[in-house]
Amino acid sequence: MKADILTIFPGFFSGPLDHGITRRACEMGLAKIEVHDLRQFTHDKHRTVDDRPFGGGEGMVLKPEPLFECLESLHLASREDRVAGRAKQSVVLLSAQGQRFTQPVAAELAALDRIVLVCGRYEGVDERVADFLADRELSIGDYVLSGGELAAAVIIEAVTRLLPGAVGNEASTRQESFTAQVETEAAGAADSTCGSGGLLDYPHYTRPADFRGMPVPEVLINGNHQEIRRWRRQRALEKTLRNRPDLLEGVALSDEDAKILARIKRDRGVGC
Ligand code: SAM
Repeated sequence: MKADILTIFPGFFSGPLDHGITRRACEMGLAKIEVHDLRQFTHDKHRTVDDRPFGGGEGMVLKPEPLFECLESLHLASREDRVAGRAKQSVVLLSAQGQRFTQPVAAELAALDRIVLVCGRYEGVDERVADFLADRELSIGDYVLSGGELAAAVIIEAVTRLLPGAVGNEASTRQESFTAQVETEAAGAADSTCGSGGLLDYPHYTRPADFRGMPVPEVLINGNHQEIRRWRRQRALEKTLRNRPDLLEGVALSDEDAKILARIKRDRGVGC
């Protein structure tokens, strides 16, 4: 996969993308990341990328010309072909007003050959970029950042670790929090001791078995895989109910899950 990042702060990315799985994916040739400096697509001596908003109001707005010219220099397929899925490419505008970036969206992007991430700054980007240049707007959460660079780094990291071969044990990426049930099953994990199946991940422990009087749950040490599977499922259900009850709506619960949930809710006095 090739990822292009359009930004007025190209130096921002030396650091976040130079470590761990993202770095390894680049070294292995699974991913190629290129950062483009928008100021190189300006034509005045001050290399101006922003201007005042029409209609008045606070702050400055990122001008359309450098963004359009930079994107045109990448010679992508037409927007029509990209949006129709005829080209495995997507141009993403990072925006607090965008659709929420989630694990399924990361998986969608990981299946493409090329993604372009457009980083906004100031009060935002001239709306013609969203209307005529980008294929979609993505937000990494309901809060406002000063620029799209951190969001782009987040998206690249989440997408890169889904590229086949990027993570040593590939099945592990399909068993993590938020991973759709169908993917967990495809990973052959539904009946194993792991597999989130759309829930939050279960708790993990490693040595020492007793750390400062805080022991690892006994069930994980006894080697009974059926019990371990049941315990992990129960803890994943508990954590999901506590921290992200909204996720439970998208999960196909087994009879055993439903009983566990009913018991947890009863114990906590949560209304069913
Ligand atoms: N005026 C905009 C608003 O209220 O929605 C906020 C602009 S923000 C200060 C500047 C840039 O940061 C945006 O153009 C976008 O690229 C980026 N940005 C801010 N929050 C973001 C988020 N939650 N997800 C993705 N990008 C974000």
